[in-house]
Amino acid sequence: MCTACETTQDTHAFGRRQFFGLAAAAAAMTAGIARADECAPFLSDMQAATTPDQAIQLLMDGNARFVAGTSLHCDLLVQAEATAEKQTPFACVLACMDSRSAPELVLDQQVGDVFVARVAGNVATTEVIGSFEYGTKVAGAKAILVLGHNHCGAVKGAVDKAVVGDSLTTLLNEIEPAVAATPLTGERSSHNHEFVQAVAEANVRMAVAALTEKSAVLKELVDAGALKIVGGLYDLETRAVTLLA
Ligand SMILES: [Zn+2]
Repeated sequence: MCTACETTQDTHAFGRRQFFGLAAAAAAMTAGIARADECAPFLSDMQAATTPDQAIQLLMDGNARFVAGTSLHCDLLVQAEATAEKQTPFACVLACMDSRSAPELVLDQQVGDVFVARVAGNVATTEVIGSFEYGTKVAGAKAILVLGHNHCGAVKGAVDKAVVGDSLTTLLNEIEPAVAATPLTGERSSHNHEFVQAVAEANVRMAVAALTEKSAVLKELVDAGALKIVGGLYDLETRAVTLLA
């Protein structure tokens, strides 16, 4: 079942390290990044050799595997042991709490690969922004993906102006600007799937913008070319992530 797990920890680490040590320049070439051993723990030399564009590509490659039903099923214990003392993820992901959109699963990433922050409606709260300042400036991640999704309950709640509890209302209010900014086509309710999807996309775009508008640290990294921030939408039916242009 798990052919990728048959090699040893040393082989895993050596495979990735060997590749990045000998071929880092070659690997920095194109949009994609070849991985000699995709189950090898993502260590510091690999992070250093990864460009922001390549970090995004690694996430998209993982989603392609998930879509195709070819997720890696690596030996997580090997990765956990190799990254126990130090982590050097290549990306941060802000996602909704939705049980069907777990980034590590739908982007097929392993232990130590990505920092993940999750909150209903994938809102870029102060806590999320602070977390990503650590993940990038301090810990060296090269990309941030804000990942919304279709049929989002939080977006539907904001569209319907749902009132449940004070804290939930406060959270949904964070999505209200996306609702207000979305041209209405048809019924203004969660039953209008086209409108809900348009709001979800606007909400992702606003979160992407907020990361640099509210964080001088993230803006500086982006301006220096050391960090790329992108938005995307996960489709629950097709399982595919589409990056927003
Ligand atoms: Zn959601």
